[in-house]
Amino acid sequence: MKSVVLSSSLFRPEILALSAYKVADASGMVKLDAMENPYHWPEDIKAAWLAELQDCPINRYPDPEARQLAATLREVEQIPADFDILLGNGSDEIIQMLLMALPPTASVLAPAPGFVMYKQLSDSLSLRYHAVPLVADGFGLDLPALLATIAAHQPSVIFLAYPNNPTANLFDPAAMIAIIEAAHGLVVIDEAYAPFAHATFMDKLAAYDNLLVMRTVSKLGLAGLRLGYLVGQPKWLGELNKIRLPYNINSLTQITADFALRHKPLFDGQTQRICEQRAVVMEHINALPGLLAYPSAANFILFKTPSGQADAIFAALKAQGVLIKNLSPQGGLLADCLRVTVGTPEENAAFLQALGQSLKD
Ligand code: PMP
Repeated sequence: MKSVVLSSSLFRPEILALSAYKVADASGMVKLDAMENPYHWPEDIKAAWLAELQDCPINRYPDPEARQLAATLREVEQIPADFDILLGNGSDEIIQMLLMALPPTASVLAPAPGFVMYKQLSDSLSLRYHAVPLVADGFGLDLPALLATIAAHQPSVIFLAYPNNPTANLFDPAAMIAIIEAAHGLVVIDEAYAPFAHATFMDKLAAYDNLLVMRTVSKLGLAGLRLGYLVGQPKWLGELNKIRLPYNINSLTQITADFALRHKPLFDGQTQRICEQRAVVMEHINALPGLLAYPSAANFILFKTPSGQADAIFAALKAQGVLIKNLSPQGGLLADCLRVTVGTPEENAAFLQALGQSLKD
Protein backbone atom coordinates (compact mmCIF):
# COMPACT_ATOMS: atom_id res chain seq x y z
CA MET A 1 0.00 0.00 0.00
CA LYS A 2 1.33 3.43 -0.89
CA SER A 3 1.68 5.50 2.25
CA VAL A 4 1.21 9.23 2.14
CA VAL A 5 3.16 11.36 4.56
CA LEU A 6 0.76 14.05 5.71
CA SER A 7 2.36 17.34 6.43
CA SER A 8 0.74 19.69 8.89
CA SER A 9 0.46 22.22 6.07
CA LEU A 10 -2.23 20.06 4.47
CA PHE A 11 -4.90 21.76 6.60
CA ARG A 12 -5.41 25.38 7.55
CA PRO A 13 -3.59 26.36 10.79
CA GLU A 14 -6.98 27.32 12.29
CA ILE A 15 -8.14 23.71 11.92
CA LEU A 16 -4.95 22.31 13.44
CA ALA A 17 -5.47 24.62 16.43
CA LEU A 18 -9.07 23.45 17.02
CA SER A 19 -10.22 20.69 19.37
CA ALA A 20 -13.03 18.42 18.23
CA TYR A 21 -16.40 18.92 19.96
CA LYS A 22 -16.43 16.23 22.65
CA VAL A 23 -19.44 14.78 24.39
CA ALA A 24 -18.98 12.92 27.68
CA ASP A 25 -20.04 9.26 27.80
CA ALA A 26 -23.24 9.10 29.82
CA SER A 27 -23.90 5.35 29.66
CA GLY A 28 -25.83 4.21 32.71
CA MET A 29 -25.87 7.67 34.27
CA VAL A 30 -28.60 10.13 35.22
CA LYS A 31 -28.00 12.31 32.17
CA LEU A 32 -28.48 15.99 32.94
CA ASP A 33 -25.69 17.49 30.86
CA ALA A 34 -27.15 18.39 27.46
CA MET A 35 -30.47 20.25 27.85
CA GLU A 36 -32.49 17.34 26.55
CA ASN A 37 -36.16 16.77 27.34
CA PRO A 38 -36.20 13.73 29.69
CA TYR A 39 -39.56 12.39 28.53
CA HIS A 40 -40.24 9.88 25.80
CA TRP A 41 -43.68 9.40 24.24
CA PRO A 42 -46.71 7.50 25.54
CA GLU A 43 -47.13 4.06 23.94
CA ASP A 44 -50.17 5.01 21.81
CA ILE A 45 -48.36 8.00 20.29
CA LYS A 46 -45.29 5.85 19.66
CA ALA A 47 -47.44 3.27 17.87
CA ALA A 48 -49.06 5.95 15.67
CA TRP A 49 -45.60 7.34 14.82
CA LEU A 50 -44.21 3.91 13.91
CA ALA A 51 -47.24 3.33 11.68
CA GLU A 52 -46.43 6.54 9.75
CA LEU A 53 -42.77 5.55 9.47
CA GLN A 54 -43.74 2.25 7.87
CA ASP A 55 -44.74 4.07 4.69
CA CYS A 56 -41.46 5.99 4.46
CA PRO A 57 -39.90 5.41 1.01
CA ILE A 58 -36.45 4.85 2.45
CA ASN A 59 -35.10 3.63 -0.92
CA ARG A 60 -35.59 7.15 -2.33
CA TYR A 61 -33.86 10.41 -1.46
CA PRO A 62 -35.87 12.63 0.86
CA ASP A 63 -37.94 15.56 -0.42
CA PRO A 64 -35.07 18.08 -0.89
CA GLU A 65 -37.30 20.96 0.23
CA ALA A 66 -39.04 19.01 3.05
CA ARG A 67 -42.25 20.68 1.87
CA GLN A 68 -44.70 18.82 4.11
CA LEU A 69 -42.60 19.45 7.20
CA ALA A 70 -42.04 23.12 6.33
CA ALA A 71 -45.79 23.60 5.84
CA THR A 72 -46.61 21.98 9.19
CA LEU A 73 -43.91 24.05 10.89
CA ARG A 74 -45.33 27.22 9.37
CA GLU A 75 -48.81 26.37 10.58
CA VAL A 76 -47.94 25.14 14.08
CA GLU A 77 -45.39 27.86 14.83
CA GLN A 78 -47.48 30.53 13.06
CA ILE A 79 -44.71 31.73 10.79
CA PRO A 80 -46.03 34.53 8.55
CA ALA A 81 -46.16 33.89 4.80
CA ASP A 82 -43.81 36.83 4.05
CA PHE A 83 -40.87 34.97 5.59
CA ASP A 84 -38.96 31.94 4.39
CA ILE A 85 -37.98 28.92 6.48
CA LEU A 86 -34.54 27.33 6.04
CA LEU A 87 -34.19 23.87 7.59
CA GLY A 88 -30.92 22.55 8.97
CA ASN A 89 -29.51 19.34 10.40
CA GLY A 90 -29.81 20.89 13.85
CA SER A 91 -29.43 24.62 14.31
CA ASP A 92 -25.69 23.86 14.38
CA GLU A 93 -25.85 23.30 10.62
CA ILE A 94 -27.70 26.59 10.16
CA ILE A 95 -24.99 28.47 12.05
CA GLN A 96 -22.45 26.77 9.80
CA MET A 97 -24.37 27.68 6.61
CA LEU A 98 -24.61 31.31 7.68
CA LEU A 99 -20.90 31.53 8.42
CA MET A 100 -19.90 29.63 5.28
CA ALA A 101 -21.68 32.26 3.19
CA LEU A 102 -19.55 35.12 4.57
CA PRO A 103 -16.50 36.53 2.81
CA PRO A 104 -13.11 35.59 4.37
CA THR A 105 -12.67 39.15 5.66
CA ALA A 106 -15.93 39.05 7.64
CA SER A 107 -16.17 38.98 11.40
CA VAL A 108 -18.70 37.55 13.83
CA LEU A 109 -19.86 38.96 17.16
CA ALA A 110 -21.52 37.32 20.17
CA PRO A 111 -21.64 37.94 23.89
CA ALA A 112 -19.51 35.73 26.14
CA PRO A 113 -20.15 33.34 27.71
CA GLY A 114 -22.35 32.12 24.89
CA PHE A 115 -23.14 29.01 22.87
CA VAL A 116 -19.79 27.43 21.98
CA MET A 117 -20.59 26.61 18.35
CA TYR A 118 -20.68 30.29 17.31
CA LYS A 119 -16.95 30.52 18.01
CA GLN A 120 -16.05 26.93 17.10
CA LEU A 121 -17.61 27.28 13.63
CA SER A 122 -16.20 30.80 13.10
CA ASP A 123 -12.74 29.47 13.98
CA SER A 124 -13.14 26.49 11.67
CA LEU A 125 -13.92 28.89 8.81
CA SER A 126 -11.07 31.26 9.73
CA LEU A 127 -13.46 34.13 10.43
CA ARG A 128 -12.56 36.75 13.00
CA TYR A 129 -14.63 36.35 16.18
CA HIS A 130 -15.43 39.11 18.68
CA ALA A 131 -16.58 37.91 22.10
CA VAL A 132 -17.94 40.75 24.23
CA PRO A 133 -18.19 39.79 27.93
CA LEU A 134 -21.59 39.92 29.59
CA VAL A 135 -22.03 42.13 32.65
CA ALA A 136 -20.81 40.08 35.63
CA ASP A 137 -23.74 41.02 37.82
CA GLY A 138 -26.76 39.29 36.25
CA PHE A 139 -25.23 38.26 32.89
CA GLY A 140 -26.89 41.13 31.00
CA LEU A 141 -25.65 42.57 27.72
CA ASP A 142 -22.89 45.18 27.98
CA LEU A 143 -24.57 47.49 25.50
CA PRO A 144 -21.86 50.21 25.33
CA ALA A 145 -19.16 47.56 24.72
CA LEU A 146 -21.29 45.79 22.10
CA LEU A 147 -22.07 49.04 20.27
CA ALA A 148 -18.39 50.01 20.34
CA THR A 149 -17.41 46.61 18.88
CA ILE A 150 -20.07 46.95 16.17
CA ALA A 151 -18.78 50.43 15.26
CA ALA A 152 -15.14 49.32 15.27
CA HIS A 153 -15.45 46.01 13.40
CA GLN A 154 -18.82 46.04 11.62
CA PRO A 155 -19.42 42.31 12.14
CA SER A 156 -21.36 40.59 9.36
CA VAL A 157 -23.28 38.38 11.78
CA ILE A 158 -24.22 38.92 15.43
CA PHE A 159 -25.59 36.01 17.48
CA LEU A 160 -27.80 36.70 20.49
CA ALA A 161 -29.18 33.61 22.23
CA TYR A 162 -32.53 34.36 23.84
CA PRO A 163 -32.45 32.80 26.47
CA ASN A 164 -28.68 32.56 26.58
CA ASN A 165 -26.71 29.34 26.99
CA PRO A 166 -25.03 28.75 29.45
CA THR A 167 -26.34 31.59 31.64
CA ALA A 168 -30.06 30.74 31.13
CA ASN A 169 -31.23 34.36 31.26
CA LEU A 170 -33.19 36.45 28.77
CA PHE A 171 -31.35 39.58 27.69
CA ASP A 172 -33.05 42.97 27.90
CA PRO A 173 -35.13 43.23 24.68
CA ALA A 174 -34.51 47.01 24.47
CA ALA A 175 -30.73 46.39 24.40
CA MET A 176 -31.24 43.71 21.74
CA ILE A 177 -33.24 46.14 19.60
CA ALA A 178 -30.46 48.73 19.98
CA ILE A 179 -28.00 46.12 18.67
CA ILE A 180 -30.27 45.17 15.76
CA GLU A 181 -30.58 48.86 14.86
CA ALA A 182 -26.83 49.51 15.14
CA ALA A 183 -25.76 46.36 13.28
CA HIS A 184 -24.21 46.65 9.84
CA GLY A 185 -25.02 43.03 9.07
CA LEU A 186 -27.40 40.28 10.13
CA VAL A 187 -28.55 39.67 13.70
CA VAL A 188 -29.55 36.10 14.53
CA ILE A 189 -31.76 35.70 17.58
CA ASP A 190 -31.12 32.10 18.63
CA GLU A 191 -34.33 30.93 20.29
CA ALA A 192 -33.23 27.35 21.05
CA TYR A 193 -34.82 27.61 24.53
CA ALA A 194 -37.90 29.62 23.55
CA PRO A 195 -40.37 26.90 24.65
CA PHE A 196 -39.27 27.45 28.27
CA ALA A 197 -39.15 31.23 28.11
CA HIS A 198 -42.43 32.25 26.49
CA ALA A 199 -40.53 35.10 24.85
CA THR A 200 -39.68 35.58 21.19
CA PHE A 201 -38.46 38.00 18.55
CA MET A 202 -40.49 36.25 15.85
CA ASP A 203 -43.02 39.11 15.99
CA LYS A 204 -40.25 41.67 15.31
CA LEU A 205 -39.19 40.13 11.98
CA ALA A 206 -41.37 42.50 9.98
CA ALA A 207 -39.86 45.55 11.65
CA TYR A 208 -36.17 44.83 11.02
CA ASP A 209 -34.71 43.97 7.66
CA ASN A 210 -31.53 42.42 9.11
CA LEU A 211 -33.23 40.20 11.72
CA LEU A 212 -33.26 36.41 11.56
CA VAL A 213 -34.82 34.08 14.14
CA MET A 214 -33.34 30.60 14.65
CA ARG A 215 -35.10 27.75 16.44
CA THR A 216 -34.57 24.03 17.04
CA VAL A 217 -36.81 21.12 17.96
CA SER A 218 -33.96 19.64 20.05
CA LYS A 219 -34.90 21.13 23.41
CA LEU A 220 -38.58 20.57 22.85
CA GLY A 221 -38.00 16.83 23.01
CA LEU A 222 -36.64 15.84 19.60
CA ALA A 223 -32.89 16.17 20.04
CA GLY A 224 -32.31 12.86 18.26
CA LEU A 225 -33.89 14.12 15.04
CA ARG A 226 -31.38 16.93 14.40
CA LEU A 227 -33.70 19.60 13.09
CA GLY A 228 -33.27 23.34 13.36
CA TYR A 229 -34.80 26.16 11.36
CA LEU A 230 -34.13 29.75 10.45
CA VAL A 231 -36.88 32.24 9.72
CA GLY A 232 -36.26 35.46 7.83
CA GLN A 233 -36.50 37.47 4.67
CA PRO A 234 -36.37 35.45 1.43
CA LYS A 235 -33.51 37.68 0.19
CA TRP A 236 -31.20 36.32 2.94
CA LEU A 237 -32.48 32.75 3.15
CA GLY A 238 -32.44 32.38 -0.64
CA GLU A 239 -28.67 32.91 -0.61
CA LEU A 240 -28.11 30.50 2.27
CA ASN A 241 -30.23 27.91 0.50
CA LYS A 242 -27.62 27.84 -2.27
CA ILE A 243 -25.02 26.35 0.06
CA ARG A 244 -27.38 23.98 1.86
CA LEU A 245 -26.39 20.39 1.08
CA PRO A 246 -28.98 18.51 -0.97
CA TYR A 247 -31.28 16.36 1.18
CA ASN A 248 -29.87 17.75 4.45
CA ILE A 249 -33.04 16.74 6.29
CA ASN A 250 -33.37 12.97 6.08
CA SER A 251 -36.66 11.18 5.43
CA LEU A 252 -37.03 9.78 8.96
CA THR A 253 -36.56 13.25 10.44
CA GLN A 254 -39.03 14.80 8.00
CA ILE A 255 -41.75 12.29 8.83
CA THR A 256 -41.07 12.21 12.56
CA ALA A 257 -40.84 15.98 13.02
CA ASP A 258 -44.03 16.46 11.02
CA PHE A 259 -45.77 13.85 13.16
CA ALA A 260 -44.45 15.39 16.40
CA LEU A 261 -45.51 18.91 15.42
CA ARG A 262 -49.02 17.60 14.80
CA HIS A 263 -48.90 16.36 18.42
CA LYS A 264 -47.59 19.64 19.81
CA PRO A 265 -49.82 19.59 22.94
CA LEU A 266 -47.87 16.53 24.13
CA PHE A 267 -44.67 18.56 24.06
CA ASP A 268 -46.32 21.62 25.56
CA GLY A 269 -47.37 19.45 28.52
CA GLN A 270 -43.82 18.15 28.95
CA THR A 271 -42.44 21.69 28.73
CA GLN A 272 -44.87 22.75 31.44
CA ARG A 273 -43.69 19.92 33.71
CA ILE A 274 -40.05 20.84 33.08
CA CYS A 275 -40.75 24.49 33.99
CA GLU A 276 -42.44 23.39 37.24
CA GLN A 277 -39.48 21.17 38.09
CA ARG A 278 -37.09 24.02 37.25
CA ALA A 279 -38.55 26.00 40.17
CA VAL A 280 -38.19 22.99 42.50
CA VAL A 281 -34.56 22.33 41.53
CA MET A 282 -33.69 26.03 41.75
CA GLU A 283 -35.13 26.29 45.25
CA HIS A 284 -33.29 23.19 46.45
CA ILE A 285 -29.94 24.31 45.04
CA ASN A 286 -30.30 27.68 46.71
CA ALA A 287 -31.12 25.99 50.01
CA LEU A 288 -27.78 24.16 49.98
CA PRO A 289 -24.93 25.89 51.82
CA GLY A 290 -22.56 27.90 49.63
CA LEU A 291 -24.48 27.38 46.36
CA LEU A 292 -26.16 30.05 44.25
CA ALA A 293 -28.52 29.19 41.38
CA TYR A 294 -28.99 31.95 38.82
CA PRO A 295 -32.51 32.71 37.51
CA SER A 296 -33.41 30.55 34.49
CA ALA A 297 -35.75 31.06 31.55
CA ALA A 298 -34.52 27.80 29.98
CA ASN A 299 -34.58 24.06 30.77
CA PHE A 300 -31.28 24.21 32.64
CA ILE A 301 -29.85 25.99 35.65
CA LEU A 302 -26.42 27.57 36.03
CA PHE A 303 -25.19 27.57 39.60
CA LYS A 304 -22.11 28.81 41.40
CA THR A 305 -20.22 26.67 43.87
CA PRO A 306 -17.82 27.79 46.62
CA SER A 307 -14.52 29.07 45.23
CA GLY A 308 -12.28 26.34 43.88
CA GLN A 309 -14.73 23.49 44.52
CA ALA A 310 -16.53 23.07 41.18
CA ASP A 311 -14.25 20.33 39.83
CA ALA A 312 -14.54 18.29 43.02
CA ILE A 313 -18.35 18.66 43.20
CA PHE A 314 -18.66 17.71 39.52
CA ALA A 315 -16.46 14.64 40.07
CA ALA A 316 -18.39 13.64 43.20
CA LEU A 317 -21.70 13.87 41.29
CA LYS A 318 -20.23 11.74 38.51
CA ALA A 319 -19.01 9.17 41.02
CA GLN A 320 -22.60 8.97 42.27
CA GLY A 321 -23.89 8.37 38.73
CA VAL A 322 -25.10 11.90 37.89
CA LEU A 323 -23.70 13.66 34.84
CA ILE A 324 -24.02 17.45 34.60
CA LYS A 325 -21.75 19.99 32.87
CA ASN A 326 -18.68 21.51 34.46
CA LEU A 327 -18.21 25.02 33.04
CA SER A 328 -15.66 26.12 35.59
CA PRO A 329 -12.65 25.23 33.39
CA GLN A 330 -13.82 27.91 30.92
CA GLY A 331 -12.98 30.50 33.59
CA GLY A 332 -14.04 34.14 33.43
CA LEU A 333 -17.67 34.59 34.47
CA LEU A 334 -18.06 30.81 34.52
CA ALA A 335 -15.35 30.14 37.12
CA ASP A 336 -16.81 27.88 39.84
CA CYS A 337 -19.98 27.33 37.78
CA LEU A 338 -21.81 24.09 37.02
CA ARG A 339 -24.83 23.63 34.75
CA VAL A 340 -27.61 21.12 35.27
CA THR A 341 -30.43 20.27 32.88
CA VAL A 342 -33.88 19.93 34.45
CA GLY A 343 -34.97 16.28 34.25
CA THR A 344 -37.86 14.20 35.52
CA PRO A 345 -38.80 14.57 39.20
CA GLU A 346 -36.92 11.30 39.89
CA GLU A 347 -33.77 12.43 38.05
CA ASN A 348 -33.86 15.82 39.77
CA ALA A 349 -34.24 14.17 43.17
CA ALA A 350 -31.25 11.92 42.39
CA PHE A 351 -29.23 14.98 41.36
CA LEU A 352 -30.16 17.00 44.45
CA GLN A 353 -29.45 14.07 46.76
CA ALA A 354 -26.04 13.53 45.13
CA LEU A 355 -25.32 17.27 45.20
CA GLY A 356 -26.05 17.46 48.93
CA GLN A 357 -23.78 14.46 49.46
CA SER A 358 -20.97 15.89 47.34
CA LEU A 359 -20.92 19.04 49.48
CA LYS A 360 -20.33 16.87 52.55
CA ASP A 361 -17.49 14.86 50.93
N1 PMP B 1 -28.29 27.32 20.13
C1 PMP B 1 -28.11 27.23 21.45
C2 PMP B 1 -28.17 28.46 22.27
C3 PMP B 1 -27.87 25.96 22.02
O1 PMP B 1 -27.66 25.88 23.34
C4 PMP B 1 -27.83 24.81 21.20
C5 PMP B 1 -27.59 23.43 21.73
N2 PMP B 1 -27.03 23.27 22.93
C6 PMP B 1 -28.01 24.99 19.83
C7 PMP B 1 -28.25 26.26 19.32
C8 PMP B 1 -27.89 23.83 18.86
O2 PMP B 1 -29.03 23.09 18.83
P1 PMP B 1 -29.28 21.96 17.75
O3 PMP B 1 -28.08 21.87 16.85
O4 PMP B 1 -29.52 20.72 18.55
O5 PMP B 1 -30.50 22.39 16.99
